[in-house]
Amino acid sequence: MATSFDHARRFFDQAADVLDLSQNMRTLLLTPQREIKVQVAVERDNGELSTLIGYRIQHDKSRGPMKGGLRFHPEVDEAEVLTLASLMTWKTAVVNLPYGGAKGGIAVDPRTLSVGELERITRKFVDEIHDMVGPDKDIPAPDMGTNAQVMAWFANQYEKFYGFQPACVTGKPVDLHGSEGREEATGRGVVTIAEALFKKLNRPLVGARVALQGFGNVGSFAAEYLMEKGARVVGLTDMTGGVWNPEGLDVRKLLEHAKSAGGVKGFPGTDPLSNEQLFGADVDLLIPAALGGVINAANATSIRAPYIVEAANNPTTPEADEILHKKGVIVVPDILANAGGVTVSYFEWVQNRQHFKWDLERVRTELNKVMHESFERVWKIAEEKKIPLRTAAYVLGIGRVGRATVLGGV
Ligand code: GLU
Repeated sequence: MATSFDHARRFFDQAADVLDLSQNMRTLLLTPQREIKVQVAVERDNGELSTLIGYRIQHDKSRGPMKGGLRFHPEVDEAEVLTLASLMTWKTAVVNLPYGGAKGGIAVDPRTLSVGELERITRKFVDEIHDMVGPDKDIPAPDMGTNAQVMAWFANQYEKFYGFQPACVTGKPVDLHGSEGREEATGRGVVTIAEALFKKLNRPLVGARVALQGFGNVGSFAAEYLMEKGARVVGLTDMTGGVWNPEGLDVRKLLEHAKSAGGVKGFPGTDPLSNEQLFGADVDLLIPAALGGVINAANATSIRAPYIVEAANNPTTPEADEILHKKGVIVVPDILANAGGVTVSYFEWVQNRQHFKWDLERVRTELNKVMHESFERVWKIAEEKKIPLRTAAYVLGIGRVGRATVLGGV
């Protein structure tokens, strides 16, 4: 069976063909620097022992310290972490951050853990990998199933070995060396990109109908910012179910409902909506902001949205990508669209290292600049080379990593 890394490889090869890269160069760029796999053994609250597996895959360091999230999710495995690590390499290069790419994860469902268990797992993982990560080596951040609190435990445990080192991890709480605007950054960046796309196509974002999958950290901030920009989020699904209102959902009220009810399902004044209906909905923009692989050969043909902005990592399979391209659907790829998170992670790292705090306005202004500049570059490559935006983003990212690799030498 094809793994998610085979998928990532197909996207890589499409751009490598455009760049006319040799096989040797492709192998060098695709092969991870280091794959770490550790035992994470912890005592559960009931006194039983749990042995989990933790991964950190460091994909490429030619442009700087490696950077990428830490995911706690039952489906975490080596192939997935490697795929996501390679995506981080291209992503940091697309937005031109002085970083390489990495990703980590533990195969566990955090919803089944108590706060104490989550803390012990995080600290144990740091004990196992601390000498292979750090502010100049590899800097983790939140991803699916982790948050600012997990990052605070991570930093605290790391500092037991090395003393004060807030830059060892990003996405920390604002009260503990985190940056203003980090939490909202991915969702905000996604909408900034959607806005840039609509402007390019001479279409108003005001009034545009949006279908959104996911109401976690990325989806919720994206939904709120879309509403602020005058777009109408008409359909939204999360793990509990989905809601539909052709007039547009009141995102703030929906957030309150989701907090008290545990999900969006049953929000008053809406019709129920399945994921299948969401992906096939008659909307102007579709934003997957949850799991990978959700747009696939089984549902790509039924997609009616003319534009897709990928807020999730790796949401579209290569088969679906081809179908969408043939249908004329414009897809803004993850490595550009969701790069707002790692961009503000970079700002946090810079602030930590300078011992200087930026205010929210500065963070938002700088993020806006990075997202717009990167979008323009990718758009220009796509136009010049007559290739889809995904391939163009890979061409930009792989080109930058390739040049750094050659300049540095092996
Ligand atoms: N997990 C996020 C991503 O996939 C952020 C990574 C970071 O901030 O380092 O881009």
